Amino acid sequence: MTNLLMIPGPIEISENVQRAYSIAPPSHLAPHVIEAFGSALERMREVWLAGPESQPFVLAGSGTLAMEMAAVNIVDPGEHVLVINTGYFSDRMAEMLRRRGAVITEVSADLCDTPGEEEISAALSSGEFKAVFATHVDTSTGVRVDAEMIARLATKHGALSVFDGVCATAGESFEMEAWGADIYLTGSQKALGLPAGLALLVVSQGAMKAREELDSPPPMSIDFHQWLPIMRAYEERGKSYFATPATTMILALDIALAEILDADFGGERGARARIAHHAAVANAMRQAWATLGLELLPASSEIAANTLSAIRYPDGVGAELVAEIAARGVIVAGGLHPELKTEYFRVGHMGDVITREDALVKTVEAIEGALIAVGVEGIAPGTARAALEAALAEQKKA
Ligand code: PMP
Repeated sequence: MTNLLMIPGPIEISENVQRAYSIAPPSHLAPHVIEAFGSALERMREVWLAGPESQPFVLAGSGTLAMEMAAVNIVDPGEHVLVINTGYFSDRMAEMLRRRGAVITEVSADLCDTPGEEEISAALSSGEFKAVFATHVDTSTGVRVDAEMIARLATKHGALSVFDGVCATAGESFEMEAWGADIYLTGSQKALGLPAGLALLVVSQGAMKAREELDSPPPMSIDFHQWLPIMRAYEERGKSYFATPATTMILALDIALAEILDADFGGERGARARIAHHAAVANAMRQAWATLGLELLPASSEIAANTLSAIRYPDGVGAELVAEIAARGVIVAGGLHPELKTEYFRVGHMGDVITREDALVKTVEAIEGALIAVGVEGIAPGTARAALEAALAEQKKA
């Protein structure tokens, strides 16, 4: 039995994308690699809904590398930054900024909640900040911040805005140009639908200027300056070299981005249609959780991510549930947030699976079966599937 990988990254990957990287690695100077690289950079602007002046970067590395690259290219030691802290990955961002020597102010909320507009606005008014950093979706709790509000507030206060979109990009609404965000970064293994291995960022002209003005240059391997001529060369379909790109992954990236942009959702195509479908699927999954009597971790449904569900174990149930779900062919993840780790599990629903109703059905059925197996009472077999299918059918009609 092949297992279905329903953790919040890495995720199930489409057959086309798998075919694209399952080849002998070509040269980074091969014409078809240069073409795919240039095309992928162009498509990134479309998926990120970024303006023509924005600068995409793709390099071999993790989402963590993309976070570090953002931090060290726009902030000098001694400069003040604001971190909107919503959990595990915001803590990581703050630590990176601390190591860069930045002076950090954090604004946070109760666990599994987000700070509101008033608090963020007050924090921004309390000093002069070079930049605001936020985690679009915190993968540890499934909490999503209001990125539009944060980006607009940052602009109003003359600060750059940086969003860690590792668990969000291509799965959550994000209008980089319209909202005036400065950096939106991700890793390849989440809603973009690739294996891990690429760090991806789109950077505004304002953030590029901040790099120009730095006193302390960033480490060479992640310096915007170093990579800018390379990205430009690829977009112009020219040869260039700084550090060897992950050629098979670049070929696959171009295919993955094309799939995101070309998929047809009831006659609608493009990034917004794809993201709207993520929201519809997340809503249907939540209907299934509700019929199973399961509760989500996020404080309200407005801030619950569309890319994953972080679900509390029912009373008397623990990590054995994850093993029971796995025994039914579906791999889900345990808790991650250090304070709550043993109290919940996480189910990813992003990327290609949102177009595979069979995979969604298998997931809710496995969870329902596992709950019954560990002794949760009052669940009639078939209710989760029925709720999911009814919600999906309702959305198709809408
Ligand atoms: N930020 C968020 C929100 C994430 O979910 C992750 C990975 N789970 C990262 C950053 C780090 O990405 P990576 O594991 O690829 O370094």
